[in-house]
Amino acid sequence: MAVAPTAGTRPDEVRRHNRAALLRRLHLDGPATRAELAAELGLNRSTIKALVDELSAVGVVSEEVPTHRHGAGRPSLLVLPQAHAVPVLAVDVGVEQVSVAVAGVGGRLLGARSWTLPRGQGTPEDVVAGIVRSRVDLVDELGCEPTRAGVSVPGVVRRADGLVHEAPNLHWTGVPFGSLLVEALELPVDVGNDADLGALAEHTRGVARTSQDVVFLSADVGVGGGVILGGVSLRGSGGYVGELGHMVVNPAGRQCYCGCRGCLETEIGEDALCRALNLPTGTPRSLIVAELRSLAADDELALHRLAGFAEWLALGLTNALNLLAPELIVLGGLLAVLPPAVVSSVTVAVHRRSLVGRAAGSVRVATSSLAGDAALIGAAELAFERVFAVS
Ligand SMILES: [Zn+2]
Repeated sequence: MAVAPTAGTRPDEVRRHNRAALLRRLHLDGPATRAELAAELGLNRSTIKALVDELSAVGVVSEEVPTHRHGAGRPSLLVLPQAHAVPVLAVDVGVEQVSVAVAGVGGRLLGARSWTLPRGQGTPEDVVAGIVRSRVDLVDELGCEPTRAGVSVPGVVRRADGLVHEAPNLHWTGVPFGSLLVEALELPVDVGNDADLGALAEHTRGVARTSQDVVFLSADVGVGGGVILGGVSLRGSGGYVGELGHMVVNPAGRQCYCGCRGCLETEIGEDALCRALNLPTGTPRSLIVAELRSLAADDELALHRLAGFAEWLALGLTNALNLLAPELIVLGGLLAVLPPAVVSSVTVAVHRRSLVGRAAGSVRVATSSLAGDAALIGAAELAFERVFAVS
């Protein structure tokens, strides 16, 4: 919410606050007329004009006459964010691939680089060196310097300084990844857990854009979760909230590296999916995805083959629903490719078993629309949150 000057507030603070609010509005919801901005931000039109003139003078926004005019008279000019004006560096360190992109205000990825990692053999130093090289390439290509970086890691990350406590599928323990990147990139860097950032991406750019209470559950090699409540990312102490993959759902199940037995991750992670599909452990992801897509053509066969898998997924989601009462559950990673019949059966099971599901009656389960880019987009949004922080 924008603010008006009050006693004790300095005018330059008010202007800075309102400028951040206006940029954040354009970033999240796209172009708007001056009149719309004034109404939405609760500012008068002369204040909006002054802010837009200031941002236009430094090339952060531009103005156009809108193509669709309402009513007679002089149209209110449409204010558009300039994508290259406030670029950030987004990094997704995956188990098998690292992706680096420059994203612009409005969320568009302006350019990207990626390279593969031998599974579990990417050292932090090698990954940092690759990120630095990609940043140089992208700056050369795009001609714009990122102002800060957001980074996604598949592990337990301390938000305050980007210390990676454990990233088991990378074989990283106690890695000061945030500090290494700050030193190498000479930029402010924020590091987050991949599923937390997936949730942020779905909330800002994906299927959860209009939802305020969201649980994101993603399965790849590992299984992670992210939670948005009241429109805000749930952090918890140290930023560690949301290890939904390590909810114990089957105490008699397989041993998990975390020390428990029968975690959701051991029942619905990539290895579990391979077992359910009769594929060998370590089958390339592209083949797993192809198998899931072919199963989608036969509902009965899909429900039969994935019956056990769906049971564990439903159990995990029922627990999440009872605990967090989201209005929307988003399935990401390999779960986003599950045959629709399986997603429907899981949705029915979750509603039937969860007290919250029965009470709310309308909890939706959707698959991610971000096609594997959720963590990268979320990393960009993590950086943008800081750029547009309204203090
Ligand atoms: Zn576990």
